[in-house]
Amino acid sequence: MKAVLGFVRWLRGCGMVELRCLFFGHKYTVTQKFSPVARRIACTRCHRMFAMNDDVRVLIDWSGEFHKMYELFGHQITYQPWEGTKP
Ligand SMILES: [Zn+2]
Repeated sequence: MKAVLGFVRWLRGCGMVELRCLFFGHKYTVTQKFSPVARRIACTRCHRMFAMNDDVRVLIDWSGEFHKMYELFGHQITYQPWEGTKP
């Protein structure tokens, strides 16, 4: 039990971790559409951003690499004010 509490405290110390997301999954919402299959989604609870692509069936953490890539494809990347950790 003590170990669990320590683990939870450690997670909280990491900042962005929302325990409800950890246990029940993220509350996703689409924040920007790049194509019919590619979009950026974010969790309205912990504000984490993800890149989603239906073609290759992936969901990965959004990063500066995605920002640069989509900009190269001619998209203007606009973030919602509440979205977390912008690249
Ligand atoms: Zn979340």
